[in-house]
Amino acid sequence: MSELKQFDVHEGQSFDALVVGAGLGGLQCARLLGRAGLSVLLIDHKRTLDAGVHTTGIFVRRTLEDFDLPADCLGPPVRHVTLYSPARRALELESAHEEFRVGRMGKLYLRFLDDCVRAGVAWWPATRYVGCELKATGVVSVELEVEGRGVRVSARFIVGADGAQSRVARDLDLDANREWLVGVEDVFTDVPLAGAPRFHCFIEPRLAPGYLAWVVHDGAEIHVGVGGYPARFDPVSALAEFQQSIAHLFALDEGHKVERRGGRIPVGGVLRRIKCAHGLLVGDAAGAVSPLTAGGLDPCMRLSSLAAHMIADYLTTGDEAALDLYSGTRFRTRFVSRLWLRRLHARLSEPALVELACAAMRLPLLRAFARHVFFGRGSFPDVEVERLLAPMIKPSY
Ligand SMILES: Cc1cc2nc3c(=O)[nH]c(=O)nc-3n(C[C@H](O)[C@H](O)[C@H](O)COP(=O)(O)OP(=O)(O)OC[C@H]3O[C@@H](n4cnc5c(N)ncnc54)[C@H](O)[C@@H]3O)c2cc1C
Repeated sequence: MSELKQFDVHEGQSFDALVVGAGLGGLQCARLLGRAGLSVLLIDHKRTLDAGVHTTGIFVRRTLEDFDLPADCLGPPVRHVTLYSPARRALELESAHEEFRVGRMGKLYLRFLDDCVRAGVAWWPATRYVGCELKATGVVSVELEVEGRGVRVSARFIVGADGAQSRVARDLDLDANREWLVGVEDVFTDVPLAGAPRFHCFIEPRLAPGYLAWVVHDGAEIHVGVGGYPARFDPVSALAEFQQSIAHLFALDEGHKVERRGGRIPVGGVLRRIKCAHGLLVGDAAGAVSPLTAGGLDPCMRLSSLAAHMIADYLTTGDEAALDLYSGTRFRTRFVSRLWLRRLHARLSEPALVELACAAMRLPLLRAFARHVFFGRGSFPDVEVERLLAPMIKPSY
Protein backbone atom coordinates (compact mmCIF):
# COMPACT_ATOMS: atom_id res chain seq x y z
CA MET A 1 0.00 0.00 0.00
CA SER A 2 1.07 3.59 -0.53
CA GLU A 3 1.54 4.06 3.21
CA LEU A 4 4.58 1.80 3.08
CA LYS A 5 6.01 3.37 -0.01
CA GLN A 6 8.31 6.31 0.52
CA PHE A 7 9.30 8.27 -2.54
CA ASP A 8 12.98 9.03 -2.95
CA VAL A 9 13.87 11.95 -0.77
CA HIS A 10 16.46 14.21 -2.40
CA GLU A 11 17.85 17.54 -1.29
CA GLY A 12 16.92 20.40 -3.60
CA GLN A 13 13.88 18.89 -5.34
CA SER A 14 11.34 21.40 -6.56
CA PHE A 15 7.57 21.09 -6.82
CA ASP A 16 4.66 23.20 -7.98
CA ALA A 17 2.96 22.78 -4.61
CA LEU A 18 3.94 21.52 -1.18
CA VAL A 19 1.04 20.36 1.01
CA VAL A 20 1.99 20.30 4.70
CA GLY A 21 -0.20 17.87 6.67
CA ALA A 22 -2.05 14.76 5.51
CA GLY A 23 -5.25 15.08 7.52
CA LEU A 24 -8.51 15.26 5.60
CA GLY A 25 -7.79 18.83 4.44
CA GLY A 26 -4.31 18.13 3.08
CA LEU A 27 -5.29 14.83 1.46
CA GLN A 28 -8.28 16.34 -0.32
CA CYS A 29 -6.26 19.30 -1.56
CA ALA A 30 -3.26 17.17 -2.66
CA ARG A 31 -5.30 14.64 -4.62
CA LEU A 32 -7.14 17.39 -6.52
CA LEU A 33 -3.88 19.24 -7.27
CA GLY A 34 -2.36 15.96 -8.46
CA ARG A 35 -5.33 15.33 -10.73
CA ALA A 36 -4.94 18.85 -12.12
CA GLY A 37 -1.52 17.76 -13.40
CA LEU A 38 0.66 19.73 -10.97
CA SER A 39 3.76 18.28 -9.34
CA VAL A 40 2.84 17.99 -5.67
CA LEU A 41 4.71 16.94 -2.54
CA LEU A 42 2.55 15.85 0.42
CA ILE A 43 4.24 15.50 3.81
CA ASP A 44 3.17 14.58 7.32
CA HIS A 45 5.20 14.07 10.44
CA LYS A 46 3.18 10.91 11.11
CA ARG A 47 4.77 7.69 9.96
CA THR A 48 1.40 6.16 9.18
CA LEU A 49 -1.91 7.94 8.73
CA ASP A 50 -4.10 5.41 10.51
CA ALA A 51 -2.27 6.11 13.80
CA GLY A 52 -3.00 9.02 16.11
CA VAL A 53 -6.43 9.85 14.65
CA HIS A 54 -7.83 12.74 16.70
CA THR A 55 -11.37 13.16 15.40
CA THR A 56 -14.63 11.34 16.18
CA GLY A 57 -15.21 11.44 12.44
CA ILE A 58 -18.93 12.19 12.29
CA PHE A 59 -19.79 13.17 8.72
CA VAL A 60 -23.02 15.11 8.19
CA ARG A 61 -25.55 14.48 5.44
CA ARG A 62 -24.38 17.47 3.44
CA THR A 63 -20.88 16.01 3.06
CA LEU A 64 -22.21 12.50 2.41
CA GLU A 65 -24.44 13.81 -0.36
CA ASP A 66 -21.94 16.17 -1.98
CA PHE A 67 -18.77 14.06 -1.84
CA ASP A 68 -18.39 10.45 -2.88
CA LEU A 69 -16.80 9.15 0.31
CA PRO A 70 -16.05 5.42 -0.07
CA ALA A 71 -18.88 3.49 1.65
CA ASP A 72 -16.54 0.92 3.23
CA CYS A 73 -14.83 3.76 5.14
CA LEU A 74 -18.11 4.81 6.82
CA GLY A 75 -20.15 3.26 9.61
CA PRO A 76 -23.90 2.59 9.42
CA PRO A 77 -26.20 5.63 9.07
CA VAL A 78 -27.60 7.46 12.11
CA ARG A 79 -31.00 9.19 11.99
CA HIS A 80 -31.76 9.65 15.71
CA VAL A 81 -30.47 12.24 18.16
CA THR A 82 -31.18 12.37 21.88
CA LEU A 83 -30.38 15.63 23.63
CA TYR A 84 -30.01 15.39 27.44
CA SER A 85 -30.36 18.27 29.89
CA PRO A 86 -28.03 18.43 32.94
CA ALA A 87 -30.78 16.62 34.92
CA ARG A 88 -30.76 14.00 32.11
CA ARG A 89 -34.20 14.86 30.74
CA ALA A 90 -34.18 13.57 27.19
CA LEU A 91 -35.41 15.30 24.05
CA GLU A 92 -35.73 12.95 21.07
CA LEU A 93 -35.14 14.17 17.53
CA GLU A 94 -35.63 11.93 14.52
CA SER A 95 -34.93 12.65 10.87
CA ALA A 96 -36.44 11.11 7.77
CA HIS A 97 -32.93 11.14 6.30
CA GLU A 98 -29.68 9.38 7.08
CA GLU A 99 -28.10 12.34 8.86
CA PHE A 100 -24.72 11.11 10.11
CA ARG A 101 -22.16 8.43 9.50
CA VAL A 102 -19.06 7.89 11.59
CA GLY A 103 -16.00 7.70 9.34
CA ARG A 104 -13.52 4.88 9.83
CA MET A 105 -10.94 7.62 9.66
CA GLY A 106 -7.69 5.64 9.52
CA LYS A 107 -9.02 3.63 6.59
CA LEU A 108 -10.38 6.76 4.91
CA TYR A 109 -7.06 8.62 5.22
CA LEU A 110 -5.24 5.66 3.67
CA ARG A 111 -7.78 5.48 0.83
CA PHE A 112 -7.36 9.19 0.09
CA LEU A 113 -3.60 8.73 0.25
CA ASP A 114 -3.76 5.95 -2.35
CA ASP A 115 -5.76 8.33 -4.48
CA CYS A 116 -3.05 10.99 -4.10
CA VAL A 117 -0.30 8.58 -5.07
CA ARG A 118 -2.31 7.37 -8.08
CA ALA A 119 -2.66 11.03 -9.12
CA GLY A 120 1.15 11.32 -9.09
CA VAL A 121 1.54 13.09 -5.73
CA ALA A 122 4.91 12.45 -4.04
CA TRP A 123 4.31 11.28 -0.47
CA TRP A 124 6.86 11.69 2.30
CA PRO A 125 5.73 10.31 5.68
CA ALA A 126 7.72 10.89 8.89
CA THR A 127 8.59 14.32 7.48
CA ARG A 128 8.26 17.44 9.59
CA TYR A 129 7.83 20.92 8.21
CA VAL A 130 10.38 23.10 10.03
CA GLY A 131 10.18 26.47 8.31
CA CYS A 132 10.35 28.34 5.04
CA GLU A 133 12.00 31.27 3.38
CA LEU A 134 10.37 33.35 0.68
CA LYS A 135 12.79 33.93 -2.19
CA ALA A 136 12.76 37.10 -4.30
CA THR A 137 11.98 34.89 -7.31
CA GLY A 138 8.62 34.06 -5.73
CA VAL A 139 9.71 30.50 -4.95
CA VAL A 140 9.40 29.21 -1.38
CA SER A 141 12.44 27.42 -0.01
CA VAL A 142 11.29 24.94 2.62
CA GLU A 143 13.21 23.27 5.41
CA LEU A 144 12.02 19.76 6.26
CA GLU A 145 13.17 17.12 8.70
CA VAL A 146 12.94 13.64 7.24
CA GLU A 147 13.63 10.85 9.73
CA GLY A 148 15.66 13.34 11.80
CA ARG A 149 17.68 14.57 8.79
CA GLY A 150 17.40 18.12 7.42
CA VAL A 151 16.30 18.35 3.75
CA ARG A 152 15.59 21.49 1.70
CA VAL A 153 13.08 21.52 -1.12
CA SER A 154 11.45 24.35 -3.03
CA ALA A 155 7.89 24.95 -4.13
CA ARG A 156 6.02 27.60 -6.07
CA PHE A 157 3.17 27.43 -3.55
CA ILE A 158 2.67 26.03 -0.07
CA VAL A 159 -0.57 24.74 1.45
CA GLY A 160 -0.82 24.86 5.24
CA ALA A 161 -3.00 21.86 6.12
CA ASP A 162 -1.09 21.38 9.34
CA GLY A 163 -3.97 21.63 11.77
CA ALA A 164 -5.17 23.95 14.49
CA GLN A 165 -1.72 25.24 15.51
CA SER A 166 -0.32 25.82 12.04
CA ARG A 167 3.38 26.64 11.68
CA VAL A 168 2.83 27.41 8.01
CA ALA A 169 0.37 30.17 9.00
CA ARG A 170 3.00 31.68 11.25
CA ASP A 171 5.75 31.55 8.61
CA LEU A 172 3.56 33.05 5.87
CA ASP A 173 2.47 35.77 8.29
CA LEU A 174 -1.18 34.69 8.06
CA ASP A 175 -3.71 34.64 10.90
CA ALA A 176 -3.59 32.08 13.72
CA ASN A 177 -6.38 30.41 15.72
CA ARG A 178 -6.88 31.87 19.18
CA GLU A 179 -10.05 30.28 20.57
CA TRP A 180 -10.23 26.55 21.24
CA LEU A 181 -12.25 23.77 22.67
CA VAL A 182 -10.49 20.56 23.60
CA GLY A 183 -12.11 17.19 23.11
CA VAL A 184 -11.19 13.71 24.31
CA GLU A 185 -12.98 10.45 23.64
CA ASP A 186 -12.70 6.68 23.91
CA VAL A 187 -13.69 4.36 21.09
CA PHE A 188 -15.20 0.98 21.98
CA THR A 189 -16.33 -1.97 19.89
CA ASP A 190 -18.71 -4.82 20.73
CA VAL A 191 -20.91 -2.77 23.05
CA PRO A 192 -24.50 -4.05 22.68
CA LEU A 193 -26.77 -1.54 20.95
CA ALA A 194 -30.29 -1.05 22.32
CA GLY A 195 -32.51 0.38 19.58
CA ALA A 196 -31.44 2.20 16.43
CA PRO A 197 -28.00 3.82 15.91
CA ARG A 198 -28.11 7.12 17.76
CA PHE A 199 -26.17 10.27 18.51
CA HIS A 200 -26.57 11.17 22.22
CA CYS A 201 -25.62 14.71 23.21
CA PHE A 202 -25.34 15.66 26.87
CA ILE A 203 -25.41 19.31 27.84
CA GLU A 204 -23.19 19.17 30.92
CA PRO A 205 -21.80 22.57 31.97
CA ARG A 206 -19.49 20.99 34.56
CA LEU A 207 -18.12 17.97 32.63
CA ALA A 208 -18.18 19.70 29.24
CA PRO A 209 -18.08 23.48 29.87
CA GLY A 210 -19.11 25.45 26.78
CA TYR A 211 -19.68 22.37 24.62
CA LEU A 212 -21.08 18.84 25.00
CA ALA A 213 -20.45 15.35 26.19
CA TRP A 214 -21.37 12.80 23.53
CA VAL A 215 -22.03 9.16 22.82
CA VAL A 216 -22.38 8.12 19.22
CA HIS A 217 -23.32 4.49 18.76
CA ASP A 218 -23.72 3.25 15.20
CA GLY A 219 -23.98 -0.43 16.05
CA ALA A 220 -20.36 -1.20 15.16
CA GLU A 221 -18.41 1.44 17.10
CA ILE A 222 -19.31 3.59 20.06
CA HIS A 223 -17.48 6.87 20.71
CA VAL A 224 -17.81 8.37 24.18
CA GLY A 225 -16.33 11.81 24.73
CA VAL A 226 -16.34 15.22 26.35
CA GLY A 227 -15.38 18.63 25.01
CA GLY A 228 -15.11 22.08 26.49
CA TYR A 229 -12.99 25.15 27.15
CA PRO A 230 -9.56 23.99 28.37
CA ALA A 231 -9.33 26.62 31.13
CA ARG A 232 -12.57 25.38 32.69
CA PHE A 233 -12.11 21.61 33.03
CA ASP A 234 -9.73 18.70 33.06
CA PRO A 235 -10.79 16.67 29.98
CA VAL A 236 -9.35 13.30 31.05
CA SER A 237 -10.93 13.21 34.50
CA ALA A 238 -14.18 14.67 33.09
CA LEU A 239 -14.28 11.80 30.57
CA ALA A 240 -13.82 9.21 33.34
CA GLU A 241 -16.59 10.81 35.39
CA PHE A 242 -18.88 11.05 32.37
CA GLN A 243 -18.37 7.37 31.54
CA GLN A 244 -19.28 6.40 35.10
CA SER A 245 -22.40 8.57 34.96
CA ILE A 246 -23.71 6.78 31.85
CA ALA A 247 -22.88 3.23 32.96
CA HIS A 248 -26.60 2.49 33.45
CA LEU A 249 -27.34 3.54 29.84
CA PHE A 250 -24.45 1.92 27.93
CA ALA A 251 -22.77 -1.38 28.76
CA LEU A 252 -19.27 -0.09 27.97
CA ASP A 253 -17.68 -2.73 30.20
CA GLU A 254 -19.12 -5.46 27.94
CA GLY A 255 -17.20 -4.03 24.97
CA HIS A 256 -13.56 -3.42 24.16
CA LYS A 257 -11.89 -0.06 24.40
CA VAL A 258 -9.79 0.18 21.24
CA GLU A 259 -8.58 3.74 21.09
CA ARG A 260 -8.35 7.11 22.83
CA ARG A 261 -8.55 10.21 20.67
CA GLY A 262 -8.38 13.91 21.39
CA GLY A 263 -7.19 17.32 20.40
CA ARG A 264 -7.90 20.99 19.96
CA ILE A 265 -10.88 22.32 18.03
CA PRO A 266 -10.62 25.92 16.83
CA VAL A 267 -13.99 27.64 17.34
CA GLY A 268 -13.22 31.30 16.66
CA GLY A 269 -14.54 31.07 13.08
CA VAL A 270 -12.67 31.16 9.77
CA LEU A 271 -9.59 33.33 10.06
CA ARG A 272 -9.48 36.55 8.07
CA ARG A 273 -6.05 36.28 6.43
CA ILE A 274 -5.77 32.76 5.05
CA LYS A 275 -3.85 33.35 1.81
CA CYS A 276 -0.96 35.30 0.32
CA ALA A 277 0.94 35.06 -2.96
CA HIS A 278 3.12 32.23 -1.60
CA GLY A 279 0.55 30.01 0.05
CA LEU A 280 -2.75 29.49 1.78
CA LEU A 281 -4.37 27.62 4.67
CA VAL A 282 -7.08 24.93 4.64
CA GLY A 283 -9.05 23.01 7.29
CA ASP A 284 -8.30 23.64 10.96
CA ALA A 285 -5.28 25.77 10.03
CA ALA A 286 -7.74 28.22 8.44
CA GLY A 287 -10.14 27.97 11.42
CA ALA A 288 -12.69 26.32 9.11
CA VAL A 289 -14.79 24.74 11.84
CA SER A 290 -18.38 25.55 12.75
CA PRO A 291 -18.07 27.62 15.94
CA LEU A 292 -21.38 26.22 17.20
CA THR A 293 -21.23 22.48 16.49
CA ALA A 294 -17.40 22.25 16.33
CA GLY A 295 -17.83 20.19 13.14
CA GLY A 296 -14.79 20.64 10.91
CA LEU A 297 -14.95 17.78 8.40
CA ASP A 298 -17.48 19.36 6.02
CA PRO A 299 -15.76 22.78 5.90
CA CYS A 300 -12.46 20.96 5.54
CA MET A 301 -13.61 19.09 2.41
CA ARG A 302 -15.17 22.20 0.85
CA LEU A 303 -12.39 24.65 1.59
CA SER A 304 -9.70 22.23 0.42
CA SER A 305 -11.57 21.56 -2.83
CA LEU A 306 -11.95 25.26 -3.45
CA ALA A 307 -8.30 25.90 -2.59
CA ALA A 308 -7.11 23.20 -5.03
CA HIS A 309 -9.23 24.70 -7.79
CA MET A 310 -7.81 28.18 -7.24
CA ILE A 311 -4.20 27.11 -6.75
CA ALA A 312 -4.31 25.14 -10.02
CA ASP A 313 -5.69 28.21 -11.77
CA TYR A 314 -3.11 30.51 -10.18
CA LEU A 315 -0.13 28.29 -10.96
CA THR A 316 -1.27 27.73 -14.53
CA THR A 317 -2.01 31.38 -15.36
CA GLY A 318 0.35 33.15 -12.96
CA ASP A 319 -2.50 35.56 -12.28
CA GLU A 320 -2.83 36.28 -8.55
CA ALA A 321 -6.46 37.34 -9.09
CA ALA A 322 -7.24 33.61 -9.36
CA LEU A 323 -6.98 33.54 -5.54
CA ASP A 324 -9.29 36.53 -4.96
CA LEU A 325 -12.33 34.51 -3.96
CA TYR A 326 -10.30 32.65 -1.34
CA SER A 327 -10.97 35.22 1.35
CA GLY A 328 -11.40 34.43 5.04
CA THR A 329 -13.12 37.76 5.60
CA ARG A 330 -15.71 36.80 3.04
CA PHE A 331 -16.26 33.23 4.40
CA ARG A 332 -16.43 34.59 7.93
CA THR A 333 -19.64 36.47 7.29
CA ARG A 334 -21.41 33.10 6.96
CA PHE A 335 -20.38 32.26 10.53
CA VAL A 336 -21.68 35.36 12.28
CA SER A 337 -24.81 33.77 13.80
CA ARG A 338 -22.85 30.67 14.82
CA LEU A 339 -20.23 32.85 16.50
CA TRP A 340 -22.92 34.60 18.53
CA LEU A 341 -24.47 31.27 19.52
CA ARG A 342 -21.02 30.01 20.52
CA ARG A 343 -20.57 33.02 22.80
CA LEU A 344 -23.98 32.39 24.32
CA HIS A 345 -23.25 28.69 24.84
CA ALA A 346 -19.85 29.53 26.38
CA ARG A 347 -21.51 31.80 28.94
CA LEU A 348 -24.25 29.35 29.93
CA SER A 349 -22.48 27.78 32.89
CA GLU A 350 -25.22 27.85 35.54
CA PRO A 351 -26.89 24.36 35.54
CA ALA A 352 -30.32 25.72 36.56
CA LEU A 353 -30.28 28.13 33.63
CA VAL A 354 -29.14 25.41 31.23
CA GLU A 355 -31.94 23.17 32.52
CA LEU A 356 -34.41 25.94 31.81
CA ALA A 357 -33.01 26.45 28.30
CA CYS A 358 -33.31 22.69 27.67
CA ALA A 359 -36.92 22.69 28.91
CA ALA A 360 -37.66 25.58 26.53
CA MET A 361 -36.42 23.40 23.66
CA ARG A 362 -39.62 21.40 23.95
CA LEU A 363 -41.48 24.44 22.63
CA PRO A 364 -42.16 24.08 18.88
CA LEU A 365 -40.02 27.05 17.82
CA LEU A 366 -36.94 26.04 19.79
CA ARG A 367 -37.43 22.39 18.90
CA ALA A 368 -37.37 23.45 15.26
CA PHE A 369 -34.15 25.33 16.00
CA ALA A 370 -32.60 22.21 17.60
CA ARG A 371 -33.61 20.22 14.51
CA HIS A 372 -31.97 22.88 12.36
CA VAL A 373 -28.72 22.69 14.33
CA PHE A 374 -28.55 18.88 14.09
CA PHE A 375 -30.19 18.21 10.74
CA GLY A 376 -29.85 21.49 8.79
CA ARG A 377 -27.65 21.63 5.70
CA GLY A 378 -25.52 24.51 7.01
CA SER A 379 -24.12 27.23 4.80
CA PHE A 380 -20.41 26.97 4.34
CA PRO A 381 -18.96 28.27 2.12
CA ASP A 382 -21.55 30.29 0.20
CA VAL A 383 -23.66 29.91 -2.89
CA GLU A 384 -21.21 31.43 -5.33
CA VAL A 385 -18.40 29.26 -4.07
CA GLU A 386 -20.77 26.31 -4.13
CA ARG A 387 -21.38 26.89 -7.84
CA LEU A 388 -17.65 27.00 -8.52
CA LEU A 389 -17.14 23.80 -6.60
CA ALA A 390 -19.98 21.87 -8.19
CA PRO A 391 -17.97 20.22 -10.98
CA MET A 392 -15.24 19.05 -8.64
CA ILE A 393 -16.77 17.93 -5.35
CA LYS A 394 -17.88 14.50 -6.53
CA PRO A 395 -14.54 12.85 -7.21
CA SER A 396 -14.95 9.36 -8.59
CA TYR A 397 -13.71 6.13 -6.99
C1 LIG B 1 -11.88 15.15 19.66
C2 LIG B 1 -12.36 15.73 18.35
C3 LIG B 1 -13.52 15.26 17.77
C4 LIG B 1 -13.97 15.81 16.58
N1 LIG B 1 -15.09 15.29 16.02
C5 LIG B 1 -15.55 15.79 14.85
C6 LIG B 1 -16.66 15.19 14.22
O1 LIG B 1 -17.19 14.19 14.68
N2 LIG B 1 -17.13 15.76 13.06
C7 LIG B 1 -16.54 16.86 12.51
O2 LIG B 1 -17.03 17.35 11.47
N3 LIG B 1 -15.44 17.42 13.07
C8 LIG B 1 -14.92 16.89 14.21
N4 LIG B 1 -13.80 17.43 14.77
C9 LIG B 1 -13.08 18.47 14.03
C10 LIG B 1 -12.36 17.82 12.81
O3 LIG B 1 -11.79 16.61 13.22
C11 LIG B 1 -11.26 18.71 12.26
O4 LIG B 1 -11.84 19.96 11.94
C12 LIG B 1 -10.60 18.11 11.01
O5 LIG B 1 -10.16 16.80 11.26
C13 LIG B 1 -9.43 18.98 10.59
O6 LIG B 1 -8.69 18.35 9.57
P1 LIG B 1 -7.35 19.02 9.06
O7 LIG B 1 -6.89 18.18 7.91
O8 LIG B 1 -7.51 20.47 8.85
O9 LIG B 1 -6.33 18.90 10.27
P2 LIG B 1 -5.71 17.63 10.99
O10 LIG B 1 -6.59 16.45 10.89
O11 LIG B 1 -5.30 18.11 12.34
O12 LIG B 1 -4.42 17.29 10.12
C14 LIG B 1 -3.24 18.03 10.26
C15 LIG B 1 -2.09 17.12 9.88
O13 LIG B 1 -0.89 17.91 9.83
C16 LIG B 1 0.17 17.18 10.39
N5 LIG B 1 1.16 18.15 10.85
C17 LIG B 1 1.00 19.12 11.80
N6 LIG B 1 2.12 19.84 11.92
C18 LIG B 1 3.01 19.33 11.04
C19 LIG B 1 4.37 19.64 10.68
N7 LIG B 1 5.06 20.64 11.29
N8 LIG B 1 4.98 18.89 9.74
C20 LIG B 1 4.32 17.87 9.11
N9 LIG B 1 3.05 17.53 9.40
C21 LIG B 1 2.40 18.25 10.34
C22 LIG B 1 -0.48 16.36 11.51
O14 LIG B 1 0.29 15.20 11.79
C23 LIG B 1 -1.84 16.02 10.90
O15 LIG B 1 -1.84 14.77 10.23
C24 LIG B 1 -13.27 16.88 15.95
C25 LIG B 1 -12.09 17.35 16.54
C26 LIG B 1 -11.62 16.78 17.72
C27 LIG B 1 -10.33 17.28 18.32
